Formats: sequence, structure tokens, C-alpha cells
Amino acid sequence: MTSIKVPPEHPRAESLQIREKLVEYYHRGVVASAGLIAHGRGEAFDYMLGEKITKPALNAVKAAAATLLTAEKAVISVNGNTAALVAEEIVRLAQITKAKIEVNLFYRSVDRELAIKGVLEKAGAHEVLGVGEDASAKIPELGSERRRVDPRGILVADVVLVPLEDGDRTEALVKMGKKVIAIDLNPLSRTSQKATITIVDNVVRATPKLVEIVGKLEHDLKKCNEILLNFDNKKNLAESITLIKGRLSKLAEK
Ligand code: ATP
Repeated sequence: MTSIKVPPEHPRAESLQIREKLVEYYHRGVVASAGLIAHGRGEAFDYMLGEKITKPALNAVKAAAATLLTAEKAVISVNGNTAALVAEEIVRLAQITKAKIEVNLFYRSVDRELAIKGVLEKAGAHEVLGVGEDASAKIPELGSERRRVDPRGILVADVVLVPLEDGDRTEALVKMGKKVIAIDLNPLSRTSQKATITIVDNVVRATPKLVEIVGKLEHDLKKCNEILLNFDNKKNLAESITLIKGRLSKLAEK
């Protein structure tokens, strides 16, 4: 049920189409109402970043690709917004990196978990962890439903990719000794600040780029190690913030 048809010649057509897609998936029970608000927060930062992949984002994507390819047990954590926007890319990424896919929600409900699983399966996923009783393990230090994870997935993973995560859970996963790769448009969020690798970009751009780079690095372990040796997340994150500052200054001078 798409509510509005966005005319392709509209200057903000792409952004509006993404919005409409999220509204459609909200009505299908995949996206939570709070997911729509979270998207709005992301959009604001995307405006400031110039709505295209930046140099620091690309550096972080390369480091993320290298981390996923050298992981023992990688897991891609999927919420409603991620499933609505990039299900096919997530499945492709999981296939190439041999990562597992786990549904992990801030606002858990079995109906929504099943709806997300359905979207992922339609996109080609053979196995989707974390649904219903499968999420029987707990992340220490976190309260209520947010702590539940799959004992075959996030609980035992060494690397977790968390597109659109919240700060508390990111911090808890890092404290458990996991490498956390975040995709978050807001470089100031606690998720961005706490993650091991932070990709400050829109999931709709970052995920296909990650698939592309993973494909290029797939058989080059030496290059992966070299990328990881030279990557400094704090420095890279600071570059994203400086980039926003520079862009805003230029726009103000116009
Ligand atoms: P934190 O708990 O990490 O401090 P928060 O409270 O802002 O952050 P949430 O509201 O849980 O986090 O999640 C929304 C986050 O997801 C925001 O930081 C927003 O920038 C980001 N976000 C929303 N849509 C996208 C998108 N399409 N691509 C990348 N990031 C996005």
C-alpha cells in the first residue's frame, strides 16, 4: 500500500521514494512507528552530508568489508528499516561473507519478527535467526526485550554488523568483546561513537557499496589486513564531522 506516487522529476524524488517505501513497510508490519521517526533523524544528517557517499564513509566501508571477510563468525543484525530498504543487498552480503542474518529489534514482537523474516526470505535468505523463541539468549547489561539474541548468532559472533542500532546495545556488544560495525547517518549518535567501525552513510548507499567492496577484496587477505592496519575509527569519524562543518560553512558563505 504505497500512499503517494512520487513524480520522478521531483527534485527530491529519491528521498521521497525511500520515505514512501518505509511508510508502505510500516503498513505491512515490518517497520515500527518509531522507525519512521528514526528515519527522519537520519534524513536530516543526510542533508548535511550532501546525500552521497563521502571519503570517510568509503574508508569505513573498506574497513568493514575487510573485517567481515576476516571474521570467524559474522552476523548481520537486521531491523525493520533495514529489511524495508536493503533486504536483497543484506542477503547478498551474507552470502559472500558467509555471515548469518539475525532479526534484532528494539521493539520486539513476534509478528514483526516474522514479517521481517518473510521480507528477507523473499530476498533469498535461507536461514534467518533471532525469530520468536530462537532469541533465547541474553546480552548482559541490557534490560527487557532488547537484550534477547539468538545463541547461534549474535551471542557467539565475533563481528556484528548493525545497520541502524541504538547506542546501549552497541556499547553492550562491544563490552562483550565483539567488533561492531555500525551504519549510521548521525556521526554524533552513541552508536557511531561506540562502534568499532562506523560507516556514516545512508544504508541505501552503504550496503550496496559494501557488497561491491567485499566482492573486490574477497580473495585478497593481504589487502584486508593492510586496510585494517591503517584504519582509525576515531580519526575517520572526526573526518565525517569536519566534512559536515566544512559543507555548512561553504553553504553559509553562498
Ligand atoms: P543512539 O542511541 O545511538 O545515540 P539514536 O537514539 O539517535 O542514537 P535511534 O533513534 O535508535 O538512535 O536510531 C536512529 C539512528 O539511525 C539515527 O542515528 C539515524 O541517524 C540513523 N538512521 C536512520 N535512518 C538511516 C538510514 N537510512 N541510513 C543510515 N542511518 C540511518
